[in-house]
Amino acid sequence: MESVHPEDDCLFCKIVDKRLPVGVVYEDEFAIAIEDIRPQAPVHVLIISKKHISGLLDLEGEDELYIGHLFALSPKLAREKGISEAGFRTVVNSGKWGGQTVSHFHIHLLGGRPFFWPPG
Ligand code: AMP
Ligand code: ZN
Repeated sequence: MESVHPEDDCLFCKIVDKRLPVGVVYEDEFAIAIEDIRPQAPVHVLIISKKHISGLLDLEGEDELYIGHLFALSPKLAREKGISEAGFRTVVNSGKWGGQTVSHFHIHLLGGRPFFWPPG
């Protein structure tokens, strides 16, 4: 399926539409999961909404269903990547101070090393 409401200048819409080459980890009707290009852990997967949702502050209508679906994929992918037993981290960065650099909703799935709190 092509991205819903594709935005010409959106990096992740291009990835959803396969206009950029990426390593696809998983794909279904609503989501695509890819390897992060700059991994911050031995496992660093991005679970990306196929619908262009700019971020958590922009949810509307049925978006919560998409977000819920994407979150529910994280344990499945964590098991497939072999990081579920040791533990893993799911992160959504929002806005400038939240560290968001791509304005298209995605969840970071990180594992393969310990993480600490506070996150810094
Ligand atoms: P965020 O900073 O939370 O918006 O996350 C954006 C993520 O996208 C960062 O971890 C980047 O390393 C990653 N990223 C940027 N461009 C690409 C790309 N072409 N393929 C895969 N990951 C990318
Ligand atoms: Zn987009």
